[in-house]
Amino acid sequence: MKKIIIYSIIICGIVALAFLFIRASFTKKETGLPALSPVPISATHPFTILLVPGHDTTTGGAHFNDIYERDLVVEVANNISTLLGQDQKYKIIVARDTQTWNPIFADYFTNYKQAILDFKNEHQATYKLLVKSGEEKVVPDMGEHTLASKTTAIELYGINKWADENNVDLVIHLHFNNSNRKNITLPGPHSGFDMFIPEKQSVNAATSRIIAEDVYNELKKKFSPEAPGYYNSLFEDQSLIALGASGTLTKPAVLIEYDYIYDKILQTDMGQKQALEQMAEQTVAGIQNYVNSINSKNLIQ
Ligand SMILES: [Zn+2]
Repeated sequence: MKKIIIYSIIICGIVALAFLFIRASFTKKETGLPALSPVPISATHPFTILLVPGHDTTTGGAHFNDIYERDLVVEVANNISTLLGQDQKYKIIVARDTQTWNPIFADYFTNYKQAILDFKNEHQATYKLLVKSGEEKVVPDMGEHTLASKTTAIELYGINKWADENNVDLVIHLHFNNSNRKNITLPGPHSGFDMFIPEKQSVNAATSRIIAEDVYNELKKKFSPEAPGYYNSLFEDQSLIALGASGTLTKPAVLIEYDYIYDKILQTDMGQKQALEQMAEQTVAGIQNYVNSINSKNLIQ
């Protein structure tokens, strides 16, 4: 009898341990490594990219003479969408054109305005507590940012909320840069492209960096980064809403400043068209490198 009890205890122990082990493996903490989907990316499991042309349809953004950042970014986004749209492995959503927001977002910003503000406030409150307790360290930003207006904040936090709710695999924000200078009718001193990714403590940091490096390496083949050297124009940032400030985005995100708005190449119709096409082509090549690499890892598994 005693033996039976001892054996029962041992068996129960083994079962309990096995249960705990299985449970632990299912609740493993997010490591930030690229999430491998259970099946390779294909026409039935497309890689979903949300392209967000920076600023609004009629306001915000850099301009030089009659060239507006908010228009250029739409053209680059449309070029990317056309190139990747031919491949059924990809699903592309462009957030706006030069006239209006994509109805998905126009409706979302209107119908969920209060929910977006609550989402923003809750995340900011949680984030403040994390900073206070020392769990999250505040890191100074590398780039200069303009403060978002209330409307822009609703749009940007709304995009983050929507992306998290809608299985987006990657969010790309497209921008063109400008330099502070006295005479804005003359070109400024800076040139080249820059990229921003979430700061390393963010939940979406690691995958964002891998994708960003792939895109950076392709852009570098045709365009110069602002600062030469090893990823010297790829900046981690904690406060850009677009990248998920205050933990508001779990999906990988990259913000690209493709060029300075006053660059000579953008000042002629022909030069501009070619440059915007090439920016899209290099971005697409980088994304394809990333997707092909996760697909090959999936096939090995
Ligand atoms: Zn911008």
